[in-house]
Amino acid sequence: MPLISTQGHRVSVSDACEICGTSIRYVHYLDNEEHLSNVAVGCICAGHLENNIEAAKDREKTLQNKARRRVSWMRRTWKISRQENEYLKVDGYIIVVFPRLNGWSGVVTKDDFKRFLDRNYATCEEAKAALFDLFWAARENEKEPPI
Ligand SMILES: [Zn+2]
Repeated sequence: MPLISTQGHRVSVSDACEICGTSIRYVHYLDNEEHLSNVAVGCICAGHLENNIEAAKDREKTLQNKARRRVSWMRRTWKISRQENEYLKVDGYIIVVFPRLNGWSGVVTKDDFKRFLDRNYATCEEAKAALFDLFWAARENEKEPPI
């Protein structure tokens, strides 16, 4: 029964691996149709369950990198566009945050790619944080080989 890693995210330090109980910093979700559906485990157990330590370690590295990038993202100084919106240029992407209705929205663009935040956020900071996820997902998709 192969276990397929789906995604991972950072968890609080009090979270524990569902297999061994060790406290974990990043959770790896493994999907299995039979019984271990969407089990949340740490890097080591993920590697054992998948029978692929290297894949688990690579994923752990990606999660660490993402967490680091998220911190620096929030510390960046955003520039002001001619339309007087705050924007960033990162890895060829242009990220713009702007007021919309009673809140904040934003957009990530690169060449033909253009994706807006799917909802409004109460504060500019929240919109910027959501834009990081949008930017990161776009960057991850870019790395996938075309089907
Ligand atoms: Zn474990």
